[in-house]
Amino acid sequence: MSDILVISEQRRGTLNPIVGETVTVARELANANGGKVLVAVLASTPSDFTSEVSLAGVDEVIEVALSIPEFQSDVFEAAVLALINERKPAVVLMPHSIDSLGYAPSVAVKGEHGFATDVFGLRYEDGGLVAVRQAYQEKAHVELEFPGKSTVVLTVRGGSFKAPEETSSPAVTSFSAPAVESQTRHIAFHDPEASDGEDITAASCILSIGRGVSDEDNVAQFEELAGVLNFTLGCSRPIADNGWLPKYRQVGQSGKTVSACKIYIAMGISGSVQHLAGMKHVPNIIAINKDPEASIFSTARYGIVGDMFEIAEELKAQVG
Ligand code: FAD
Repeated sequence: MSDILVISEQRRGTLNPIVGETVTVARELANANGGKVLVAVLASTPSDFTSEVSLAGVDEVIEVALSIPEFQSDVFEAAVLALINERKPAVVLMPHSIDSLGYAPSVAVKGEHGFATDVFGLRYEDGGLVAVRQAYQEKAHVELEFPGKSTVVLTVRGGSFKAPEETSSPAVTSFSAPAVESQTRHIAFHDPEASDGEDITAASCILSIGRGVSDEDNVAQFEELAGVLNFTLGCSRPIADNGWLPKYRQVGQSGKTVSACKIYIAMGISGSVQHLAGMKHVPNIIAINKDPEASIFSTARYGIVGDMFEIAEELKAQVG
């Protein structure tokens, strides 16, 4: 079969937006090589998401009812393995996420399928699937082939494709997942840090700092600058991961989307797709980076090639 199976994903009742983007690439593959686009919704009440995943290009929604309230890796693994076994798709696409990283590799190994993660380009060449991903700390693009594999499992990078805007009326079917004695247990969601009422998604002016800040001791001067400018302080993921700023200030794919922002100053941020996912819509992006080749400059409206520390001092002097 040459069907493309998309595995949908949701958390706390909200569909992962990458699912829509994944439908787009699934449709492109099906158009190129034939076959149908199937979207499987694995949830305690999958019908809650059926209309949301019924996007243009989807031929069939498969509802897979699970007896768990939220994601558990071994339950998803068993359900997806069984579904692949029954439907025999040529390609299985999942959002590249913390959830899929928990079970996609074992699905690929146990099913002896082809596998690649964080894919942002896909095409057929001479009848074979070619997946594009990055390597060597994002310094090189590599193209992967999967010779001899009748099914290939791929996780798709968010922000790489545009989700369909139109909806459709696909066939809706159901699939019974095998009963699993799960070795994992969902206890609760833990929001690690209270935001003290600060909601970065509601801020109209944000000053965000990235790894260019170099050291935790340097963060304070940018906090001060944000105060002087009356901007809300944001950051890229490495800053939050290092614990230099709280997680609720992180902008991007696994952080916040700064929906209300009108002016975004990015200081010492390279412009990874994951960071852009949370801020590329902002109408006025001002990038400050000492590397003239930094990819943030291709998204920014205004750019300053320079040292963020010197520019911070100058800004403080001008405004303060
Ligand atoms: P770098 O890429 O290291 O860039 C630092 C920049 O600072 C460089 O461009 C450098 O030229 C510049 N610089 C250095 N010194 C100075 C100076 N003195 N003055 C001016 N410029 C200077 N990242 C996020 O931000 N948000 C997310 O939500 C997010 N989610 C992710 C989810 C997944 C599943 C994965 C795999 C990754 C995610 N990432 C996320 C990480 C992302 O891939 C990048 O690693 C990260 O965004 C890089 O952060 P950065 O730009 O601060 O650091």
